[in-house]
Amino acid sequence: MIDVAAWQRISQEVNSRNATLVAVSKTKPVEDIQALYALGQRDFGENYVQELSEKAALLPTDIRWHFIGHLQRNKVKQIAPFVHLIHGVDSFRLLKEINKQASKNNRVIDVLLQMHIAQEETKFGLDENELNELVETYNAQKAAMAAVRICGLMGMASNTEDVNQVRSEFKNLHQLLQKLQSGFFKDENYFGICSMGMSGDYQMALDAGSSMVRIGSLLFGSR
Ligand SMILES: *Cc1c(COP(=O)(O)O)cnc(C)c1O
Repeated sequence: MIDVAAWQRISQEVNSRNATLVAVSKTKPVEDIQALYALGQRDFGENYVQELSEKAALLPTDIRWHFIGHLQRNKVKQIAPFVHLIHGVDSFRLLKEINKQASKNNRVIDVLLQMHIAQEETKFGLDENELNELVETYNAQKAAMAAVRICGLMGMASNTEDVNQVRSEFKNLHQLLQKLQSGFFKDENYFGICSMGMSGDYQMALDAGSSMVRIGSLLFGSR
């Protein structure tokens, strides 16, 4: 069951900040996606390749599918024909595989680099040094990477009650984005997406400059 009032309120809030609302539909049935689609929602996020592929085949083709989970290289080819934006790129090897599969499909695939901004230990996401290294490696091979576009950064804040901590993590991510935007990517007008904020912290993320929030449970109920 979707929460229509929540969708109306949140999409208005997000639109008024010139940001994009990605409705995170993982584990939820296609009927729920159809219900939000009927209200006008077009951006949907999924975490699992198999689930995304199955749902996309059943749903309207003007849905913009965001892959927001951890993507394994051997699964890129399954979503390459249709995915709109891949949020979780955290290695050059993955970027290279996306470029290869995009090229095979005669498309350019947009991606975000995932940063590790939270205090919690996780294997996913880059620190600032790794980010710079990846961007340098990409730059050195740029001519061969024309089927992929790095459009911005994505991150997840700590799962904590400490709002100051969360706010400072979002601020850090936004500053990293601005640094790249005025530096390495200054001539690329497509660069500038800052994907941060989920059900529990999206307002703080918007305050810190998020341009894309990924919201699941507030719209679809808890998982
Ligand atoms: C599941 C998920 C979300 C949505 O989380 P909610 O708390 O349900 O809004 C956002 N981003 C990522 C990366 C997720 O895996």
